[in-house]
Amino acid sequence: MATPNQASRTGGPHRVVVVGGGFGGLQAVLKLRRLAVEVTLVDRRNFHLFQPLTYQVATGALSPGEIAYPLRAIFKHNRNVHVLMAEVDDFDLKARELQLSPAAGVPAPPRIPYDTLIVSGGSRYSYFGHDEWSNHAAEVKSLESALTVRNRLLSAFEAAEWESDPERRAALLTFVVVGAGPTGVEMAGQIGELARDTLRADFRRIDPRTARILLVEAADRVLTTFPPSLSVKAARSLEKLGVTVLTQRTVVGVDGEGVTIEHGGSEPERIPSRTVIWAAGVTASGLATRLAELTGAESDRAGRVTVEPDLTLPGHPEVFALGDMVRLRDAAGASTVLPGVAPVAMQQGRYAAKVVHDRLRSRPTQPFRYRDKGNLATIGRGAAVADIKGFRLSGHIAWITWLVVHLWYLVGFQNRLLVLIRWTSSFVTHGRGARLITDPDAEGRSPTLEEKARFD
Ligand SMILES: Cc1cc2nc3c(=O)[nH]c(=O)nc-3n(C[C@H](O)[C@H](O)[C@H](O)COP(=O)(O)OP(=O)(O)OC[C@H]3O[C@@H](n4cnc5c(N)ncnc54)[C@H](O)[C@@H]3O)c2cc1C
Repeated sequence: MATPNQASRTGGPHRVVVVGGGFGGLQAVLKLRRLAVEVTLVDRRNFHLFQPLTYQVATGALSPGEIAYPLRAIFKHNRNVHVLMAEVDDFDLKARELQLSPAAGVPAPPRIPYDTLIVSGGSRYSYFGHDEWSNHAAEVKSLESALTVRNRLLSAFEAAEWESDPERRAALLTFVVVGAGPTGVEMAGQIGELARDTLRADFRRIDPRTARILLVEAADRVLTTFPPSLSVKAARSLEKLGVTVLTQRTVVGVDGEGVTIEHGGSEPERIPSRTVIWAAGVTASGLATRLAELTGAESDRAGRVTVEPDLTLPGHPEVFALGDMVRLRDAAGASTVLPGVAPVAMQQGRYAAKVVHDRLRSRPTQPFRYRDKGNLATIGRGAAVADIKGFRLSGHIAWITWLVVHLWYLVGFQNRLLVLIRWTSSFVTHGRGARLITDPDAEGRSPTLEEKARFD
């Protein structure tokens, strides 16, 4: 079995290349920058995105710049950290090189060498084998798609104001969110607040409070990763915001005119709607599939590559993969899928950096162990649920916990301050400062899956 080099093959400092400046990759580099290694962070974007708040951009509560932070700015004082904006196309594991192509038109070197490689390419939404649905059901994973959703939501109210046909007006004022995990619940709650609270006095011909907000979920409750008692509380809070929760419903069709859902064996039901938001099902980054092909590692149906207990790939102790794109093999050989949440990726990023450190000092390493700190989801103003080490919280206390945790993990002091000011101002005034329709073709198509994959 190959062993990772402790010094670089070139005789210089050990070269670590990290793919992905998201939650996992960023934490790895934050730890590696303190070591005597040369680090290159490669990402197709020039910023770190705080995905847990993209839905707030989609509903006009926050602006894009408040939840994203330039990667170069984070590492400006670390001379051993290089940032490279490029698309990672492939891996040459034998030559220990990455193959790159330009991202957003910025030229990039075609290949870069590494001694240790850490890959944290994340995941993207999957449309259950119906990629064509993505043209009509936008998601909120990237900044670009969050802005598409914002345009569509706000444009629907604008169009409804001047629509004389009652059926078409009703379709414009019907918002369907597919998937009642934390993102779907948060999104539906925010649309509820937008319609019932923020916009209530803004229109003359329509009453935004009459908008229908439907949250469609295949399981029998919302927030299935939370204890059932918190799911009940979350569903109650959603209903107070005017959201209709439709559980045990499967989406079987999405097009430009609405959504078709099935409930048990009954006849499919058609819901006319011009705004559908997708928050169901994820698939791992294509980088996971490629690593599985190259190393013979197993992958699961969601495309996650199976990594060893120390997060490396079989036969390649110099290659780590982590975050949303992996599942973990334990010492007994069983595979575990950890939750697709930021703390998992962050802990794994820090762990991979620690293993690099240990190896440089010829110290043994322990297998990766996830420390579950709990689950949080917010529903709206003063309403959230939290399951923290067996403590089940709801209402204001859970909401304040949610606010503090999100502010704490947001990257950049300026962003924390701006978001705190925004949230305080929204709380007091019931306003949302970023309610802008910025795309002149707001009713137009959403990006294709291929286009979106470049940003996921
Ligand atoms: C809408 C939404 C809300 C969420 N809310 C929460 C929440 O409230 N709490 C929580 O804990 N988790 C939440 N999550 C999940 C959390 O964001 C992910 O678990 C986390 O981002 C995973 O980290 P990662 O490093 O694996 O991937 P990411 O953070 O997605 O980072 C992947 C990075 O790799 C880059 N990349 C990918 N492929 C390439 C390539 N080929 N070339 C170059 N660069 C590439 C991407 O640009 C990206 O910067 C949410 C996710 C979404 C989508």
